[in-house]
Amino acid sequence: MNAVLEIKADAVIHNLTYFKSKLHSSTKTLAVVKAFGYGSDAVILSRILQKSKVDYLAVAYIEEGIHLRKEGIRLPILVLHPQSNNLSELIEYHLEPNIYSKKMLIEFLKLAKKQKLVDYPVHLKFNTGLNRLGFHKDEVTNIITIINKEKLIKIQSVFSHLAESDDVSDKRFTLEQINAFIKIKNEVTSLLNYKPIFHLLNTSGIINYPEAQFDMVRLGIGIYGFGNDIKITNKLQNVLTLKSVISQIHTIKKGESVGYNRAFIAESDMKTATISIGHADGISRKLGNNNGYVLVNKKKAFIIGNVCMDMIMVDITTIRCKEGDEVVLFNSQKMIEEIAIKINTIPYEFLTMISQRVKRKII
Ligand SMILES: *Cc1c(COP(=O)(O)O)cnc(C)c1O
Repeated sequence: MNAVLEIKADAVIHNLTYFKSKLHSSTKTLAVVKAFGYGSDAVILSRILQKSKVDYLAVAYIEEGIHLRKEGIRLPILVLHPQSNNLSELIEYHLEPNIYSKKMLIEFLKLAKKQKLVDYPVHLKFNTGLNRLGFHKDEVTNIITIINKEKLIKIQSVFSHLAESDDVSDKRFTLEQINAFIKIKNEVTSLLNYKPIFHLLNTSGIINYPEAQFDMVRLGIGIYGFGNDIKITNKLQNVLTLKSVISQIHTIKKGESVGYNRAFIAESDMKTATISIGHADGISRKLGNNNGYVLVNKKKAFIIGNVCMDMIMVDITTIRCKEGDEVVLFNSQKMIEEIAIKINTIPYEFLTMISQRVKRKII
């Protein structure tokens, strides 16, 4: 057996329930499962979330949505970042595009006309300050007028994205974004004879700006157990556990080296374990040379020398263990956050670094 990433279904449900308890009962939930479900497994996550009755799923790319459809996911799926080259596949798999630019709108309408679509569900994204994707607020009337001309597409939702919902030290920018979104909402509403879903908040938004929940929220990192705030994270359950095994144990004599470039030299006689997981699995080389550790029979064993592509070597001099024993790379949010800090990043990036070579297992 090699490295395995365990996914705890109960923890996902707990976290979802926690965030729902912070919202009005009428507020819909969209769960974000882009990038393999934040590095976990998009299909496993989507199945759990479908059973738990979330209202929507979101992925970044069309291919991610197609994969979910092929695995039998039936929930509506919002594609946050489609490109115009494979929009016909998007339609074929009943995925719902985020239309974020005039170019995309014109292209989608052209395709919709060709395919004689009626009321195809689309989502409009407005830029309220992140300056990433989205129409400008001055484009509302123009965009809605174009859409209203024919019945090809139906605006299923209108949304925007906050730039610093996790930072409450200065709320001014976020409050400006919320106000800009309210204005967009009012303008859109006045131009349509039906009511789209309006949504703005991501995980930190739900925690820090629940008054701006509108009709739906977009829950991402929260599902996976992180609140971007220690108090919230403590109320959430850990979803992901990364494990591997001891492939071999070595006795190293004082003065001998371990690993590539002989980066580690033993200062005294010692025991090392070679673990089957490496930088190709997402264990950053920055964790080498005594920076990171693993748990061997619940005790810390530090990584010595350089991290290899498929292996790491750890110091087990004072730990009772044998070849074939299980090793834990992380089994708590605290450990994941600690590793993220050690490699100078955030859990969002560290989790999505766990490569597809690592087997996924639902618990
Ligand atoms: C990724 C993403 C989210 C989820 O954000 P979290 O901080 O993980 O909750 C929500 N909305 C959009 C547009 C996103 O791209």
